[in-house]
Amino acid sequence: MAPTPAAPAGHDEPAAQALSLYALAFEHLPLGVCLFDAQACLLAANPRYRQMWQLPESLCQPGSPLGDLRAAQQARATVAAAASPLQQEWLTQDGRTIAETDRPLPGGAMLRVHDDISAHRQTEARIAHQARHDTLTGLPNGAQLHEAIGHHLPRTARGEVLALMCLDLDHFKVVNDSLGQPAGDKLLQCVAERLKACARGGDLVARLGGDEFAILQTSGAQPASSTAMGRRLIEAMAAPFDLDGHKAHIGSSIGVAIAPFDGAQPDVLLKNANLALYRAKADGRNVLRYFEPEMDARMQARRQIENDLRGAIANGEFELAFQPQITVTGGLVAGVEALIRWNHPTRGRVPPIDFIPLAEETGLIVPIGRWVLRTACAAARHWPDDVRLCVNVSPAQFRSRSLVLDVLEALEAAGMPAHRLEIEITEAVMLRDTEHALSVLHALRERGVRIAMDDFGTGYSSLSYLRRFPFDRIKIDRSFITDVHSSVDALAIVHAINGLGLSLRMAITAEGIETAEQLDAVRGAGLAEVQGYFFSRPRPASEIDGVIRGRLASPALLPPLPAASEEPPCSNESPT
Ligand code: C2E
Ligand code: MG
Ligand code: MG
Repeated sequence: MAPTPAAPAGHDEPAAQALSLYALAFEHLPLGVCLFDAQACLLAANPRYRQMWQLPESLCQPGSPLGDLRAAQQARATVAAAASPLQQEWLTQDGRTIAETDRPLPGGAMLRVHDDISAHRQTEARIAHQARHDTLTGLPNGAQLHEAIGHHLPRTARGEVLALMCLDLDHFKVVNDSLGQPAGDKLLQCVAERLKACARGGDLVARLGGDEFAILQTSGAQPASSTAMGRRLIEAMAAPFDLDGHKAHIGSSIGVAIAPFDGAQPDVLLKNANLALYRAKADGRNVLRYFEPEMDARMQARRQIENDLRGAIANGEFELAFQPQITVTGGLVAGVEALIRWNHPTRGRVPPIDFIPLAEETGLIVPIGRWVLRTACAAARHWPDDVRLCVNVSPAQFRSRSLVLDVLEALEAAGMPAHRLEIEITEAVMLRDTEHALSVLHALRERGVRIAMDDFGTGYSSLSYLRRFPFDRIKIDRSFITDVHSSVDALAIVHAINGLGLSLRMAITAEGIETAEQLDAVRGAGLAEVQGYFFSRPRPASEIDGVIRGRLASPALLPPLPAASEEPPCSNESPT
């Protein structure tokens, strides 16, 4: 509070003192204040009022009519909003917002207060903008998209058609993981620019979060318009991005839902566009898919399986089957591969191909993989020391960071030496975050665990991975074995892989031998080990001990193993 001014001589009564204090406060008040009498003539205006409105001093003298002052304000500003007859907001020509509030006083007088609320309004506007935009790219966000869909949907009743396109980047995570988050952010900003360049007037481009974007088309004929836009988008996303010298190649998948046919509520339309997107991703990169009603049914079936999968370990629904790997020369069981089986209470036996991918996506593969390792090691503990136990491990298990620990715990619990365990991986393990995958492989190798490259030859860069890690074994994929006895090319490939294994000192196993002819062909190519139905289908744990003990009698002929119960057939129901 300002210090009490010295009272002027002759006015030492307390009332006079108070009056001069009020005058002081009036002079320095940060609000613009005018006091009018009952005849609407100015009694007093403080300097802040004059300054706020940039009014001449002559106009602010006592006696000035309220109407003149208002006219002067109107020359400098417009009324932007009037909350009530006593309250209005002015927008001045220089961009400020002034709130004006009238307060009637006893006897017909009136107090008018002006407050410059520009800073307040700017903050509000910024917050409102942030609530409707994505900070990284400046694009409208999901909330605004949702609002826009809700705004346009009622117009479909008058024959308008909307297309909602959901777009997701392929391999964004690879860029983010390998080049770092700042590069990932830069990439998203570049993507936003390209999307805007593809859009036409009236289209709304939004970022929904992560690497997900959406475009709402409110004009144009459908589906022609969204098909054309999809083509532009896929082409634009397929061109490489330059991230400070690094060329990043990504792609995009697009799902489209059209209103009112595919949804008359914003949430339904969004859900269905996402279902179509999900389909597009499953169908490969750079694909656009339109929503179809059966996608919904399929998704529900999938969700059902996912739910069932969650309870499967606790309910003891998993089981391991074991398939021997045989030496070509000695006809001995050199290894046994553990293969998971799911005995679903109502669907029957579900094959791994129908639930492993889902378990990977949901992360459930981590506890399931842990169960496989423990159960397989426990089953193999009494096998002869020279019989390997082979266990398949998925990419998601590598990413989970607990794999080395899970392996060591399983070995320890079974009291099994590490050198008897062979982990089978596919090149998908190396595809993402190769450095991390390699460090896990080295950590396992240091403990004595062996590593095999499974399904060799099916990926795009199998060969390059052989240079990055010294695998103990290569398993030639069944697709090369199927016609190895009849196709010169297939045989040449098997020959070449065998030679590769010899020079890289990696053992080679052929997968999927079903006939004597195939066996003869791979034997001719010099392969040392084979696996397949010709010798044995995967068998229940109770039978594998006998197979191992019996070994094989006739190395020259390598006849099929003694008849054993075949695996019960898998149910053919497919969740996807
Ligand atoms: P994989 O590791 O390549 O396993 C070999 C697959 O080929 C097995 O299919 C096996 O039953 C089948 N097979 C073996 N010999 C023959 C043959 O002569 N002819 C034909 N047509 N097929 C043969 P399965 O058991 O259905 O497993 C499929 C895939 O599922 C496996 O391929 C593996 O990638 C994955 N998988 C199986 N068990 C597990 C597991 O415990 N964990 C993980 N992460 N993946 C598993
Ligand atoms: Mg395998
Ligand atoms: Mg395989």
